[in-house]
Amino acid sequence: MDVLIVGSLAYDSLETPMGSREDELGGSASYGGFSAAFHNRKNGGNGVALVGVIGQDFKSEHLEWYQKSGLEITGIEEKEGETFRWKGSYHGDMAEAITHETQLNVFENFQPKVPLDQTTPKVLMCANLHPSLQSSVISQTKAERVSILDSMNLWINIAIEELRVVITKVDILILNDAEVKMLASDDNLIRAAESVLKMKQGGILVVKRGEHGVLALHPDGIISMPSYPTLELTDPTGCGDSFAGAMAQFLSQKTGTVSRNELAESLVHATVTASFTIENFGTERIRNLSEDEYDVRLSEYRRITNTS
Ligand code: AMP
Repeated sequence: MDVLIVGSLAYDSLETPMGSREDELGGSASYGGFSAAFHNRKNGGNGVALVGVIGQDFKSEHLEWYQKSGLEITGIEEKEGETFRWKGSYHGDMAEAITHETQLNVFENFQPKVPLDQTTPKVLMCANLHPSLQSSVISQTKAERVSILDSMNLWINIAIEELRVVITKVDILILNDAEVKMLASDDNLIRAAESVLKMKQGGILVVKRGEHGVLALHPDGIISMPSYPTLELTDPTGCGDSFAGAMAQFLSQKTGTVSRNELAESLVHATVTASFTIENFGTERIRNLSEDEYDVRLSEYRRITNTS
């Protein structure tokens, strides 16, 4: 198993200046999963598995979408009740999601169980989820190479103690710029990123900066990269999750310590992958991405950034 992803499997209600959608398949693990699965197929990898929970209302068609993309779904548990629901909107430049409603539903009292044959993935990716559920999965697994963790402002607000603990247990922490500033209580991004890395007790911090690209703090130095300049921004939901999924799959391809160069290359793939997700509502674009269109955009991005 190359990548094990734990996160939310959700039905989202979305509103953006480009339109709205009800009960769109979403969730951090769905976006991360489709993204990692795309790269796994493309690179001939050894598989990506999802761990999460769904309710009885979850459509079998959506389980088929996971399977069709090559995702292993034995770690998805169905529980009595409704699937997790998130309602969000974006306005203006769509830089920030406004959460209108979060219905935990089957996530209340959920105890994640990692299938025994998936406890030693090369890369463990804890996509956005309550930090205590992320901790539970970390304690059940031993990532052969690296563990990655993503989070959100909600957990900084309501589960800060659990969050502070779980970030020390992973190799790579991914947050957006607003979350880094919030966690460090500092408006200077670089200073805030340095304090978060101290809080994390070392390792790597990746800071997503939306249309401004990405900043990463690696022990061998800082990396800064622009985003891919896309004209077709339709729905930013899942951008960060598909970014993390691509990164996770890329890092599962090698062994040993993650060098600064390798991290930078994984961020190129993460950036290019995420730029597709936002071009349509929900998982539509990332699910149906073709290898050819990916390669064309990857070369374009390398030309724009003068990277080989
Ligand atoms: P992103 O736009 O990459 O930050 O992720 C958006 C996805 O996160 C949506 O599909 C939501 O279903 C999911 N999400 C929103 N809030 C939460 C939460 N509190 N816990 C887990 N997943 C969430």
